[in-house]
Amino acid sequence: MPARNILVINCGSSSIKFALVNEAHSQFPLSGLAERLGGPDAVLHWQRGGERDSLMMPNGDHRSALAQLLPLVQGAAGGKLHGIGHRVVHGGEHFTSASRLDDSALRAIRATAPLAPLHNPANLLGIEAAMKVYPDLPHVAVFDTAFHQTLPEHAFRYALPESLYRQHGVRRYGFHGTSHRFVSHRAAELAGLSIGDSSWLVAHLGNGCSTCAIVNGQSRDTSMGLTPLEGLVMGTRSGDVDPNLHSHLARTLGWSLEQIDTMLNKESGLQGLSGLSNDMRSLEQARDQGHAGATLAIEVFCYRLAKSLAAMSCALPTLDGLIFTGGIGENSPLIRSKTVAHLKLLNLTLDSEANARTIRGIGGPIHAKGHPRVLVVPTNEERQIALDTLALLSA
Ligand code: ADP
Repeated sequence: MPARNILVINCGSSSIKFALVNEAHSQFPLSGLAERLGGPDAVLHWQRGGERDSLMMPNGDHRSALAQLLPLVQGAAGGKLHGIGHRVVHGGEHFTSASRLDDSALRAIRATAPLAPLHNPANLLGIEAAMKVYPDLPHVAVFDTAFHQTLPEHAFRYALPESLYRQHGVRRYGFHGTSHRFVSHRAAELAGLSIGDSSWLVAHLGNGCSTCAIVNGQSRDTSMGLTPLEGLVMGTRSGDVDPNLHSHLARTLGWSLEQIDTMLNKESGLQGLSGLSNDMRSLEQARDQGHAGATLAIEVFCYRLAKSLAAMSCALPTLDGLIFTGGIGENSPLIRSKTVAHLKLLNLTLDSEANARTIRGIGGPIHAKGHPRVLVVPTNEERQIALDTLALLSA
């Protein structure tokens, strides 16, 4: 059978990220981004082979962007497109794995929208547009939450009245599942272990950040919760704060829920701590020049990350390795070394030369000899979504 092609789509409220994935090739034949959709500056950017191009499409919406994309995808796929894989952020408790998109799956995704009011409606917009533009292809949804449906109840329940869980779904769900799953499988391959008989800690560090404890290929705990705000310090998200912060700010400053929500999601994290930037590269440069806010932001980021990894270790019977991934995890020797320095009780120590050279898409071990494995594993969520889509189409 010739190698198959899957178009992977990730829709936001005004953007579509896409990649054409061929199962036989690690490079994407076509990838790109449509952004500012619905506005006068709507634009489609794409990259094919080494060439970049773009097309202005004033007031273009999701459907017109996907229609513009169709001939490009057909060209890059040699006319042979086998299906579409959609990233969906929240699958609630309904979806424990990828799902073929039929009427009942669409109903279930709609029903989950209250748990992810910013993300799921945007994902649905993209799915519905894509089903109109590509009516003859199979469509599959791959959920960020599905991998974490194996969390035991003691890890996913909050210490809140039971009715909030039973009647309103208030529990910890976790996100970044596609990435945690992809890198843990790759790490097991790199280490020559079976994923079904190995235990991993994962730090996915991008603009959003989360940790995960993975035992025998299953997620056993993760740092994000009901929403992707819980847990680590992120680019603009606070991660954990005292749950009384809301009432404190409302009482003392008269802030509304919307103001507090915006502050915690958009003005906090690295951005809030540094007063400078949400971007780790900029913060590392500023720290080198002695910027106090950038220095503090990096210290808090690494300490809180290490604390979360130590907490996740409670879910592991043994440790086969710690995995760093995401833009920061794959590219920042500084963040890796500062984080691991806080984890002496787990006996973790890095080989500083290996740490320094393992960047920019290179993966591999960075631990010192005689110490537990620490691996850098570049993530590839698009490829995992394509593989899940293909697996479902073959089943
Ligand atoms: P997203 O979650 O949006 O997919 P990425 O995984 O691309 O984000 O990660 C973005 C983060 O990675 C940014 O904070 C960026 O500064 C950081 N990053 C990328 N390259 C480097 C680098 N060389 N050194 C430090 N941080 C980096």
